[in-house]
Amino acid sequence: MGRTFLEHMGGVKLFSCHACDANLTNKTELISTRFTGATGRAYLFKRVVNLTYSNVQDRVMLTGRHMVRDVMCKNCSAKLGWMYEFATDDSQKYKEGRVILEYALIAESDGFLDPYNPHLYFIISFLYLTRLYLRCKRIYL
Ligand SMILES: [Zn+2]
Repeated sequence: MGRTFLEHMGGVKLFSCHACDANLTNKTELISTRFTGATGRAYLFKRVVNLTYSNVQDRVMLTGRHMVRDVMCKNCSAKLGWMYEFATDDSQKYKEGRVILEYALIAESDGFLDPYNPHLYFIISFLYLTRLYLRCKRIYL
């Protein structure tokens, strides 16, 4: 078996697998934090990467009947939540194709600084000018 190919979503606030730290999604994909899973609090996301899916299961939930698939980490196979394949109730259609990750099974972390972030440019310019100033001082004093 070859090495598992993993994607990375990037972003400033990241969510990853609690067990192996594989990247799953980021905060811009977060739709709602008001869901409940088997372990407690659960989040609904627009797009999540690095998952494997179980067969479709018919489940009756508080919000009606849904066809769902359990989702597992592609890297370590830990169960992370489920995906809504089909919702019978019209008011629940927005969940189709979306993924629930149980908060207890994921880890939240800060991602990479956006290179186009203006604050970063400000900091770099400040450091550059400070260095320039110190160098000039050394020459002329
Ligand atoms: Zn994992």
